[in-house]
Amino acid sequence: MYSPPLPATKDVVLIGGGHAHALVLLKWGMRPLPGARLTLINPGPTAPYSGMLPGFVAGHYQRQDLDIDLVKLARFCGARLILGAADGLDPQARLVNVPGRAPIAYDFASIDVGITSEMPDLPGFATHGVPAKPLGTFASSWEAFRSDQGRSDPAHIAVIGGGVAGAELVLAMAHALSRQGRLGQATLIDSGPVLGQASPEVAKRLRRAFSEHRVSLVENTGVDRVEPGLIHLSDGREVLSDFTTGAAGARPHDWLAGAGLTLHQGFVTVDETLQSSDPNVFAVGDCAHLGFSPRPKAGVYAVRQAPILYHNLRARLTADPLRRYRPQKDYLKLISMGRKEALGDRFGLQFSGALVWGWKNRIDQAFMEQFRHLPQMEQVKLPAEHTYDLPEALGDKPMCGGCGAKAGRGALRAALTALTPLQRQDVTALPGDDAALVQTGGVQQVITTDHLRGLVLDPVVMARIAAVHALGDIWAMAAAPQVATANLILPRLTPALQQRTLSEIMSSAGEIFHAAGADIVGGHTSIGDELSIGFTVTGLCPSAPVTLAGAQPGDVLILTKPLGSGVIMAAEMAGAAKGDWVAAALTRMCQPQGAAARILSGAHAMTDVTGFGLAGHLLGLCEASGLAAQVDLAAVPLMQGAAELSAGGIRSSLFEENRAIAPGLPRGAEADLLFDPQTAGGLLAAIAPETADKVLKQLQDAGYSAARIGSLTSGTAELHLI
Ligand SMILES: Cc1cc2nc3c(=O)[nH]c(=O)nc-3n(C[C@H](O)[C@H](O)[C@H](O)COP(=O)(O)OP(=O)(O)OC[C@H]3O[C@@H](n4cnc5c(N)ncnc54)[C@H](O)[C@@H]3O)c2cc1C
Repeated sequence: MYSPPLPATKDVVLIGGGHAHALVLLKWGMRPLPGARLTLINPGPTAPYSGMLPGFVAGHYQRQDLDIDLVKLARFCGARLILGAADGLDPQARLVNVPGRAPIAYDFASIDVGITSEMPDLPGFATHGVPAKPLGTFASSWEAFRSDQGRSDPAHIAVIGGGVAGAELVLAMAHALSRQGRLGQATLIDSGPVLGQASPEVAKRLRRAFSEHRVSLVENTGVDRVEPGLIHLSDGREVLSDFTTGAAGARPHDWLAGAGLTLHQGFVTVDETLQSSDPNVFAVGDCAHLGFSPRPKAGVYAVRQAPILYHNLRARLTADPLRRYRPQKDYLKLISMGRKEALGDRFGLQFSGALVWGWKNRIDQAFMEQFRHLPQMEQVKLPAEHTYDLPEALGDKPMCGGCGAKAGRGALRAALTALTPLQRQDVTALPGDDAALVQTGGVQQVITTDHLRGLVLDPVVMARIAAVHALGDIWAMAAAPQVATANLILPRLTPALQQRTLSEIMSSAGEIFHAAGADIVGGHTSIGDELSIGFTVTGLCPSAPVTLAGAQPGDVLILTKPLGSGVIMAAEMAGAAKGDWVAAALTRMCQPQGAAARILSGAHAMTDVTGFGLAGHLLGLCEASGLAAQVDLAAVPLMQGAAELSAGGIRSSLFEENRAIAPGLPRGAEADLLFDPQTAGGLLAAIAPETADKVLKQLQDAGYSAARIGSLTSGTAELHLI
């Protein structure tokens, strides 16, 4: 029997992709809770695992080895991922603030944002130093420093803060630079004794490692200021340092001070259930203070809190009893020592060497393995009895969103031929163009409509993409956007969640239309199985619109955005795209093209590259202009990851239909991307050759990854690769 999707009734918002939240999401994905809508907020698409950071710094691991891919994790558990840093929480209104978008409403929230090692009181550190936390920023800065071959040798490094984390970091950095043959001076600085909090035996073994790695110690001495290449100590001495790291103490994030929750020295005080002073807000990991039983800041507590948080969040949603968290008194510490050696410390016993490193490596890899091989999205299970051709129609992969979910060019053309010829004198047919031209009281107006099946769960990003996409037809005609109406299908939600979602869609789409000079004046909303956002848009043409027809032999072809959104989002659905690639592709899709259209307003012909792919839209331009196209495949800009995914066999749902229009073109990973359906893709313009260089430079100066991708010649409407 058909069972429709269940409505969502409650919003759970996880702030920060820290260790505890990552594990909660993993468990949630294995056992979703019907009715709950999950959101994760994190500044970037990945979150590094601290246990492997020293090994990465030392050069034993690659960056991707220690990154938890939050895009894949969010897809696995059906959570929307908001890429941004929260900077405020209003427990009364139940809103989280993330700059650049409307506040995010929640019913239950949890904070797992870690700490920072910034040193705002140390002059020069903010500009010339790199805090060890957040780990992601630190890892990127170190990677850039380590791989910068242009730097003068030898390289000097220093770590301020002589605790265990500082010791691990300085040993790892010294080891990495030694292996490169670049180690100059490596210094560990502390205002007290180095490893003053560690047991004498741990301190003894690590001190031995310092001397083996040629690490100098500066103890019981403060730092006055940090300058490029130099640290000034309080006793007047100077330490050479081209890369200065801070690992001294744990600072809470400043914004928590204004979150309206009870704090202890800036950390969110929680009780045994991990609830803060507001029972609807939980806090875990380093940013939480265990008021009932304080503990030092260590990832092991964040990891152990995860099952309790998972249970208690669900218990609040199902009205079940909450569980108590009992932190362990001691835990196994495994400390990296530069080379592939580690020091173990538990119950007063110490053990070190290569075997301990191997043991630590196995534990860390096992932790990360949980996130590396997430189960794939289940294929629809067909009932035993069905039409004979249903499996073929269903295909072997889930249907794409965005333009990958459009009807094919062939089906569309066949249906359009059945349309009755135009009867009105004030409407001009523009064969192949997506917008129609209408004469209204002496004014030329273009009108178009477009809508997209959701490709991400965040209505804000989806609305931005849909608005840019719908405006594409107007911009491609060099018309000025005028007015829009919205056509929305919302998934089943309670009235409260409907209101939240609608506000997010309308405010974010409104910003795009407003910036384009147009207003949203109304629309229509209905409820369906899944989110779909579309707009009908009009534009005014002060002069003759630019259409597909009109290109001249010898015109240069210019494309304003790289290709690849179809293949990247198809891979994202299959859990096969890297989070960084997806985040970059979404940013491209959200990029408006108003400025590009103005720069290209003198084009002989123009279109926007969408569902039919570059090849389909270029062929349309060739047919309307009666020309052939030469495409320089090597010059076609591609999104990061697109070629790799295409080479791996990933294709969008619409690919085969698109590919069928030019069976003569050679196949291949990059050639196939010419047929990749684009969502909110770039403008493709035919430009007079004498102006092409100037126009291209203007586009690049305006922030577009524009490229000259070929030219038009006399001949039948065909594409040729050069
Ligand atoms: C060099 C080093 C080595 C370490 N080694 C170990 C070890 O071996 N074992 C151990 O137990 N501990 C170790 N620690 C400590 C460990 O790093 C932390 O205790 C652990 O990372 C805490 O996890 P967490 O869940 O609190 O948050 P984190 O892992 O710090 O993650 C916080 C997340 O929140 C995000 N975030 C930050 N601000 C915001 C915001 N405003 N909005 C949204 N998201 C935000 C961050 O980008 C990040 O993804 C080490 C620390 C260092 C510096």
